[in-house]
Amino acid sequence: MYDSLTVKMFQMKSDKLPIINSAWDILSGGGSALDAIEEGATVCEVLQCSGTVGFGGKSDEDGETTLDALIMDGRTMNVGAVGALRRVKGAMSVARHILDYTKHSILVGDQATQFALKMGFKEESLITPNSNELWVEWNDEYHCQPNFWTNVEPNPEEYCGPYKKLDTLGKQRTPQKRNVGIDKFNHDTIAMVAVDKNGDVAAGTSTNGVKFKIPGRIGDSPIAGSGAYADNTVGGAAATGDGDVMLRFNPSFLAVEEMRRGASPNAAARTAIDRIASYYPSFSGAVIALTKDGEYGVACHGLETFPFVVQDSTRETCEPVSINCS
Ligand code: ASP
Repeated sequence: MYDSLTVKMFQMKSDKLPIINSAWDILSGGGSALDAIEEGATVCEVLQCSGTVGFGGKSDEDGETTLDALIMDGRTMNVGAVGALRRVKGAMSVARHILDYTKHSILVGDQATQFALKMGFKEESLITPNSNELWVEWNDEYHCQPNFWTNVEPNPEEYCGPYKKLDTLGKQRTPQKRNVGIDKFNHDTIAMVAVDKNGDVAAGTSTNGVKFKIPGRIGDSPIAGSGAYADNTVGGAAATGDGDVMLRFNPSFLAVEEMRRGASPNAAARTAIDRIASYYPSFSGAVIALTKDGEYGVACHGLETFPFVVQDSTRETCEPVSINCS
């Protein structure tokens, strides 16, 4: 058994090393997988990884940035998660506090903020000049395009709201091809899986969701089994991508269950991704999977390449890897 860490990597080169190093320092120093996940995601939140994690970056359609995060303990099968967290920067730490100090698994919205304040977190705006500028551009220049509305008027593909529902709702029995508001430029997540020296597995995510989401929207990232999943008897998995679609398929849970059946982590991640692609061929996303023995695997779909980082006690430095998704 050796300690091992698999992390979804960000395109911005300066982003990745502090995340991996801080998480790895904890694992290699004999710390817990849970602490490594919390630390790595927190560094990403502070650095605002590619504008997709933490404060600022992507806002909702009211111009407010809200945060989703999840941490799962594979030793106890306990979960702490926060969704649509408002005005508090440390989403992963708030999730960890839900894990450590409550019997709940997920808190959302303003009440999650109230919980965080009781736990000693600071209330502050998550809007930055940059996120505000992006929002003003989307609203004024691009007339709120793209957005996540459907079957409403005025036509959401041309106009901003307020929208009201169409009286004659078309019967959409076949799945939509994809979430039209999602492409590779407007969403991302830090997704991590770790095994520590005791063989304890943990997994977690943190994100500010998708750009110009409808306020209140929560994606796959804070949902156990979707955004991440960990089970000491098997390993863990974590996901990134089009969360509105992905959460319908619990891909992290599926990948762990495939490994439980004896599939390699690569095959397990592939099964989870292919399941989604069979219903939504144009979705984009990826799953990382790690066995309790430190073997990792990855599968992706709808992206050109998927970069991630692996570190374990057999490697001198963290290894950035990129796979082709087609
Ligand atoms: N899964 C995240 C969400 O939908 C975004 C991403 O990972 O790309 O909120």
